Amino acid sequence: MRIGQGFDLHRLKEGRRLLLGGVEIPSDMGEDAHSDGDVLLHALIDALLGSKALGDIGQHFPPSDMRYKDMDSRELLKRTLALASFHIINIDCNIILQTPKLSPHIMDIRKSLASLLDMDVSDISVKAKTAEHILGELGRGEAIAAEVTLLTE
Ligand code: MG
Repeated sequence: MRIGQGFDLHRLKEGRRLLLGGVEIPSDMGEDAHSDGDVLLHALIDALLGSKALGDIGQHFPPSDMRYKDMDSRELLKRTLALASFHIINIDCNIILQTPKLSPHIMDIRKSLASLLDMDVSDISVKAKTAEHILGELGRGEAIAAEVTLLTE
Protein backbone atom coordinates (compact mmCIF):
# COMPACT_ATOMS: atom_id res chain seq x y z
CA MET A 1 0.00 0.00 0.00
CA ARG A 2 1.08 3.56 -0.62
CA ILE A 3 -0.06 6.78 1.02
CA GLY A 4 -0.61 10.12 -0.70
CA GLN A 5 -1.24 13.54 0.76
CA GLY A 6 -2.25 16.78 -0.88
CA PHE A 7 -2.77 20.36 0.22
CA ASP A 8 -4.11 23.39 -1.60
CA LEU A 9 -5.00 26.94 -0.71
CA HIS A 10 -6.77 29.66 -2.69
CA ARG A 11 -7.83 33.22 -2.10
CA LEU A 12 -11.57 33.84 -2.21
CA LYS A 13 -12.94 36.53 -4.49
CA GLU A 14 -16.40 38.03 -4.90
CA GLY A 15 -18.22 36.89 -8.02
CA ARG A 16 -16.28 33.65 -8.40
CA ARG A 17 -17.96 30.23 -8.05
CA LEU A 18 -17.17 28.23 -4.92
CA LEU A 19 -16.44 24.69 -6.14
CA LEU A 20 -15.59 21.81 -3.83
CA GLY A 21 -15.12 18.31 -5.18
CA GLY A 22 -17.02 19.28 -8.32
CA VAL A 23 -20.00 20.62 -6.33
CA GLU A 24 -20.97 24.30 -6.55
CA ILE A 25 -21.66 25.67 -3.06
CA PRO A 26 -23.94 28.74 -2.83
CA SER A 27 -21.65 31.60 -1.75
CA ASP A 28 -20.95 35.26 -2.55
CA MET A 29 -17.27 34.41 -2.91
CA GLY A 30 -15.40 31.66 -4.69
CA GLU A 31 -11.87 30.50 -5.35
CA ASP A 32 -9.68 32.92 -7.30
CA ALA A 33 -7.54 30.78 -9.57
CA HIS A 34 -6.25 30.20 -13.07
CA SER A 35 -8.44 27.10 -13.40
CA ASP A 36 -11.92 26.86 -11.87
CA GLY A 37 -10.09 26.80 -8.50
CA ASP A 38 -11.67 23.69 -6.97
CA VAL A 39 -9.33 23.52 -3.97
CA LEU A 40 -10.51 20.06 -2.90
CA LEU A 41 -9.95 18.49 -6.31
CA HIS A 42 -6.53 20.13 -6.53
CA ALA A 43 -5.52 18.66 -3.16
CA LEU A 44 -6.92 15.30 -4.27
CA ILE A 45 -4.89 15.42 -7.50
CA ASP A 46 -1.73 16.17 -5.49
CA ALA A 47 -2.50 13.27 -3.14
CA LEU A 48 -2.94 10.89 -6.09
CA LEU A 49 0.29 12.09 -7.73
CA GLY A 50 2.08 11.86 -4.38
CA SER A 51 1.00 8.25 -3.87
CA LYS A 52 2.90 7.30 -7.04
CA ALA A 53 5.75 9.83 -6.60
CA LEU A 54 4.64 11.43 -9.87
CA GLY A 55 5.36 15.05 -8.96
CA ASP A 56 2.67 17.65 -8.36
CA ILE A 57 -0.25 19.34 -10.04
CA GLY A 58 1.81 22.37 -11.07
CA GLN A 59 4.21 20.19 -13.05
CA HIS A 60 1.45 18.34 -14.90
CA PHE A 61 -0.89 21.30 -15.41
CA PRO A 62 1.20 24.51 -15.21
CA PRO A 63 -0.84 27.62 -14.28
CA SER A 64 1.21 29.51 -16.87
CA ASP A 65 -0.29 27.33 -19.61
CA MET A 66 -3.31 29.08 -21.13
CA ARG A 67 -4.88 25.68 -21.95
CA TYR A 68 -5.74 25.38 -18.25
CA LYS A 69 -7.39 28.82 -17.95
CA ASP A 70 -10.80 28.36 -16.27
CA MET A 71 -10.35 24.60 -16.75
CA ASP A 72 -12.90 22.33 -15.08
CA SER A 73 -10.88 20.62 -12.34
CA ARG A 74 -12.91 17.42 -12.88
CA GLU A 75 -11.17 17.24 -16.26
CA LEU A 76 -7.77 17.70 -14.56
CA LEU A 77 -8.69 14.82 -12.23
CA LYS A 78 -9.64 12.61 -15.19
CA ARG A 79 -6.29 13.34 -16.83
CA THR A 80 -4.50 12.55 -13.57
CA LEU A 81 -6.31 9.22 -13.23
CA ALA A 82 -5.14 8.36 -16.76
CA LEU A 83 -1.47 8.81 -15.78
CA ALA A 84 -1.24 5.58 -13.75
CA SER A 85 -3.29 2.73 -12.36
CA PHE A 86 -4.76 4.03 -9.10
CA HIS A 87 -6.57 1.57 -6.84
CA ILE A 88 -7.72 3.85 -4.06
CA ILE A 89 -8.68 2.19 -0.77
CA ASN A 90 -9.98 5.23 1.09
CA ILE A 91 -9.77 9.00 1.16
CA ASP A 92 -9.94 11.43 4.07
CA CYS A 93 -10.35 15.17 3.41
CA ASN A 94 -10.34 18.35 5.48
CA ILE A 95 -11.71 21.63 4.17
CA ILE A 96 -10.83 24.78 6.10
CA LEU A 97 -13.27 27.61 5.41
CA GLN A 98 -14.76 30.36 7.56
CA THR A 99 -18.08 30.74 5.68
CA PRO A 100 -20.46 29.45 4.39
CA LYS A 101 -21.21 26.45 6.59
CA LEU A 102 -20.44 23.29 4.64
CA SER A 103 -22.30 20.72 6.75
CA PRO A 104 -25.40 20.77 4.48
CA HIS A 105 -23.18 20.01 1.46
CA ILE A 106 -20.86 17.31 2.81
CA MET A 107 -22.87 14.37 1.46
CA ASP A 108 -23.16 15.97 -1.99
CA ILE A 109 -19.38 16.46 -2.05
CA ARG A 110 -18.76 12.84 -0.97
CA LYS A 111 -21.16 11.58 -3.65
CA SER A 112 -19.51 13.73 -6.29
CA LEU A 113 -16.03 12.41 -5.39
CA ALA A 114 -17.38 8.84 -5.33
CA SER A 115 -18.80 9.31 -8.81
CA LEU A 116 -15.64 10.94 -10.20
CA LEU A 117 -13.42 8.20 -8.75
CA ASP A 118 -15.84 5.26 -9.19
CA MET A 119 -15.66 4.56 -5.45
CA ASP A 120 -18.14 3.85 -2.68
CA VAL A 121 -19.26 6.89 -0.65
CA SER A 122 -18.43 4.95 2.53
CA ASP A 123 -14.74 4.99 1.52
CA ILE A 124 -14.66 8.77 1.19
CA SER A 125 -14.59 11.03 4.24
CA VAL A 126 -15.02 14.80 3.95
CA LYS A 127 -14.72 16.98 7.03
CA ALA A 128 -15.06 20.75 7.25
CA LYS A 129 -13.85 23.15 9.88
CA THR A 130 -13.54 26.88 10.29
CA ALA A 131 -10.29 28.66 11.03
CA GLU A 132 -11.79 29.97 14.32
CA HIS A 133 -11.42 33.56 13.01
CA ILE A 134 -7.65 33.25 13.41
CA LEU A 135 -5.03 32.09 10.88
CA GLY A 136 -4.85 35.32 8.82
CA GLU A 137 -6.69 35.24 5.49
CA LEU A 138 -8.34 31.90 6.33
CA GLY A 139 -9.72 33.27 9.59
CA ARG A 140 -10.95 36.47 7.91
CA GLY A 141 -12.86 34.42 5.35
CA GLU A 142 -10.59 35.58 2.54
CA ALA A 143 -9.16 32.17 1.67
CA ILE A 144 -9.97 28.47 1.61
CA ALA A 145 -7.73 25.45 2.11
CA ALA A 146 -8.09 21.71 1.67
CA GLU A 147 -6.00 18.72 2.61
CA VAL A 148 -6.45 15.18 1.36
CA THR A 149 -4.91 11.93 2.55
CA LEU A 150 -5.50 8.69 0.69
CA LEU A 151 -4.32 5.13 0.59
CA THR A 152 -3.71 3.22 -2.64
CA GLU A 153 -2.69 -0.34 -3.39
MG1 MG B 1 -5.22 25.03 -6.66
